[in-house]
Amino acid sequence: MARKVSEFERSLRKRKRRWAANEKAYRKLVAKYGLLSEQDPTKPYCDFLSDIPLGWFDLIETLVQKLIAAGWDRQVAQVKQKWGGLRFYVGGASPAMARLIARAEKRSLKICEEYGRPGVLCNADFVRTLCDAHAEGLAPLRKSPVIRIRFQDGDTHPAGSNLRPPDL
Ligand SMILES: [Zn+2]
Repeated sequence: MARKVSEFERSLRKRKRRWAANEKAYRKLVAKYGLLSEQDPTKPYCDFLSDIPLGWFDLIETLVQKLIAAGWDRQVAQVKQKWGGLRFYVGGASPAMARLIARAEKRSLKICEEYGRPGVLCNADFVRTLCDAHAEGLAPLRKSPVIRIRFQDGDTHPAGSNLRPPDL
């Protein structure tokens, strides 16, 4: 008799498939743009790739292109999803680079993590940004639970980031 697969096992398999897909896509992006590990810049960035939602791939690729054009050294400290939003940590960033990152992080709160369609913050098993199809009836959050720091020029950036607003 075939063994019955539990709901938990099914959801774990689904998550593992998602992690593997994320890892594969972002490994290619790291290679394409020569992104380096901040901890050891002789090596490509390879940590936490499975934690980066695939729906933000285009957003992240565009950010990477803009940062490189702005003179970024291509060193990544960490990229991940936190509180439903993108976190993109780099070692050293000019105020212009910090603003590019802040804008992309803000934009991520409106892009579904799964396939990149327009989304809203949802209270899932943890806070995620999802479109209607992926939210599957989950209650939308009216705003990010993250406190944001306002820059002098009006830009905002999540508190707790390793990037500082200019002139602070
Ligand atoms: Zn979606």
